[in-house]
Amino acid sequence: MGYENLKFPEGSTFLVTGGAGFIGSNLCEAILNMGYKVRCLDDLSTGKRENVNLFLDNPNYMFIKGDIKDLDTCMKACEGVDYVLNQAAWGSVPRSIEMPLFYCANNIQGTLNMLEAARQNSVKKFVYASSSSVYGDEPNLPKKEGREGNLLSPYAVTKMCNEEWAKQYTRHYGLDTYGLRYFNVFGRRQDPNGAYAAVIPKFIKQMMHGEQPTINGDGKQSRDFTYIDNVIEANLKACLASREVAGEAFNIAYGGREYLIDIYYNLTDALNVNIEPKFGPDRAGDIKHSNADIRKAKEMLGYDPEWSFERGIKAAIKWYRDNL
Ligand code: NAD
Repeated sequence: MGYENLKFPEGSTFLVTGGAGFIGSNLCEAILNMGYKVRCLDDLSTGKRENVNLFLDNPNYMFIKGDIKDLDTCMKACEGVDYVLNQAAWGSVPRSIEMPLFYCANNIQGTLNMLEAARQNSVKKFVYASSSSVYGDEPNLPKKEGREGNLLSPYAVTKMCNEEWAKQYTRHYGLDTYGLRYFNVFGRRQDPNGAYAAVIPKFIKQMMHGEQPTINGDGKQSRDFTYIDNVIEANLKACLASREVAGEAFNIAYGGREYLIDIYYNLTDALNVNIEPKFGPDRAGDIKHSNADIRKAKEMLGYDPEWSFERGIKAAIKWYRDNL
């Protein structure tokens, strides 16, 4: 259970791209706590300097400010690295509809550069962030690997392309790649600010400040909200996975299903506020329901998530209360 007791060879070095972001900084912290070395590569485009400053005193931590769109930067960052955890990308479905060319360059070419740099530096494992968005308009629940529909946004295209490129690097160059299809991750350090903020931190912050949040659509959409510690576990277990399952992509979620409107009132109760939501239009590129079949990750990676939504949301609310 969990990840804290997983063992890697002594002195192992992990490169976390996007390590100044929400998921990446949590990966850096977990690996440092386990006593291994972390190199964080981030251009600080959506990540935060404060997520780097947290670890600068640790001699096992090194920060490289750089862009994965630049192959030389990726090559230098991969020197002497055992495991790559590639998180760097721009998120947000609506923003990707506004900026398709940037998403192609940043999310597709950037990850391709990282695959190439990892291959040339003989990295042991290349684990990368994919997304539940690759299921597109596939209506059946739960979402199951191998049963994908038509993609609904440029962002989803970038994640599907990453998976296809990673498969090629496993097939032709023997690089062990593992794609993790995250489903709506939440938890400490997720940014509550800006037009493209994720719904849980955004609502918590607005409620804490007495503002009225807007729900896009009727609130009856459902998601498999996944606490950050489950995502850390999946990344570290993928680093220890067998070569036989390299080239595959896995659903990473808890396997539950929460309705947005229920989460809304959960948060008002927990924060002890009495604010009714506004309702706005549905967002383009969004699907109504999503929940994951996580059996493939359980069977092939030994993934065994410990954090239910209820347990995770309590921890997240406490963190925002203490830190906002
Ligand atoms: P985030 O924005 O907090 O972190 C992404 C980090 O990548 C940022 O620090 C940013 O500065 C960095 N970055 C972006 N482009 C870069 C570039 N060209 N070079 C170097 N660094 C760059 O986002 P997050 O929520 O932590 O997401 C991490 C990964 O997980 C992303 O690949 C995202 O698409 C994926 N993902 C996240 C979720 C979620 O619910 N948060 C769901 C599915 C997939």
